[in-house]
Amino acid sequence: MKLFVDRCDSCQSKIYLKNVAITRTDLRRQIGFENFHLRCGTCQNEHIYSIYRVFAESEKTSTATGAVVGGLLGLLGGPVGLLIGGGLGAAIGGADDTEEQRRVDNFNESW
Ligand SMILES: [Zn+2]
Repeated sequence: MKLFVDRCDSCQSKIYLKNVAITRTDLRRQIGFENFHLRCGTCQNEHIYSIYRVFAESEKTSTATGAVVGGLLGLLGGPVGLLIGGGLGAAIGGADDTEEQRRVDNFNESW
């Protein structure tokens, strides 16, 4: 899960935060204030943002990774094994994605 400010006041780019927080309350506790300075990595302009402009997004990599890993395992078992292995890997990766999405929703719905 990655946190970002939506969006830069100058160039409208997303600005990703280095902070790792479960909720906005957690983020506020880390920063100590509701507003914070942040420099945009794209245009280098610094502005003050509210934590309410911070959102979370998932890093959707696990389904694809799971399918690849499963597919590789499946290669050992021939074409049928490939299908089973790929499906199994995607299912494992997909479970991770669901968990990731739950954490993203948890952050975005927090105050
Ligand atoms: Zn910018």
